[in-house]
Amino acid sequence: ADSDIADEAVRATCDDASICKRFATSKGYWTDLYVQYFVRQVGERKAPEINRGYYGRVKGMNLLIDAFLKKTQCDCQVVNLGAGLDTTFWRLKDENIMPKKFFEVDFPMIVARKIHNIKTKPPLSKPLIETHSTDALLLDGHSLDSDRYCIIGADLRDLPTLEEKLKKFQINPELPTLFLSECVLVYMTPEQSSKLVHWVADAFPTAMFINYEQVNMNDRFGEIMIENLQRRQCNLAGVDLCQSLDSQKERFLSAGWESANALDMMTVYNMLPQEDVARIECLEFLDEKELLQQLLQHYCICWAVKDKLNLADFSF
Ligand code: SAM
Repeated sequence: ADSDIADEAVRATCDDASICKRFATSKGYWTDLYVQYFVRQVGERKAPEINRGYYGRVKGMNLLIDAFLKKTQCDCQVVNLGAGLDTTFWRLKDENIMPKKFFEVDFPMIVARKIHNIKTKPPLSKPLIETHSTDALLLDGHSLDSDRYCIIGADLRDLPTLEEKLKKFQINPELPTLFLSECVLVYMTPEQSSKLVHWVADAFPTAMFINYEQVNMNDRFGEIMIENLQRRQCNLAGVDLCQSLDSQKERFLSAGWESANALDMMTVYNMLPQEDVARIECLEFLDEKELLQQLLQHYCICWAVKDKLNLADFSF
């Protein structure tokens, strides 16, 4: 069916993200010791502006993630929605800032691949075993559950099943919980993503939601970005809702979140520690600065907070 083809194209985007992250880390933009176990080869060269874009994306997300972990003193949970082959769990373990439990959700087919990699690569499985107490670890084709890390195969558009599976793996709605979605909501219709965001707000009294995705697509550059994705039959169902930073915030504010912020990635890039930015800008020569600027203006980070525990003030 058409919808299967569209879903398959969406699933394929997780490889794109990890392939680009693998390439950028091979050039030294940032360190990720684990992405190599999900993407074997460094692959073809990516343009410098793409690498800088991924640098901003990863550093920006990490700053907010780490701020949440610090505020909650790790007495919290993280739920990465549409996690793909993301390696954040291993980074947090290495940096000794692991939440009580780290959950990931993606389509069962992606989850099965990720679990296979974890099972067969000791550098990935060792940290799981180390953070797990005596009982046997649950590992079947479509889910993995250990004390500190859990991967769930589910469709984010099917909220009753998502809720049931998170409960089955002992999510605790009373704990401060950080939800992440990195280039994920854009693949759902505005109704579907708004329901998801609404459900989180209803179910978790103290929560933060960090969303990274395309924005400001209503110009020529945005049109080209959309055409490129459509050429691969990707269903960008959510793209028109997210036309501005204001509509990004509105998605959360109208769904029961107390506060929301949104910054385009050019702004985020300029707010990152400038010493490190200067370092990465020396890695590869970038001819056209405007190209980077245009690219970064078409992505954003939006974060929303519900703060029953009065943790207050999550910001850069
Ligand atoms: N967040 C990861 C990252 O940034 O590296 C992966 C991003 S990738 C562009 C989008 C991911 O969202 C894919 O892994 C895809 O399978 C997942 N995804 C999209 N729609 C989904 C849905 N309805 N249910 C579950 N996963 C979904």
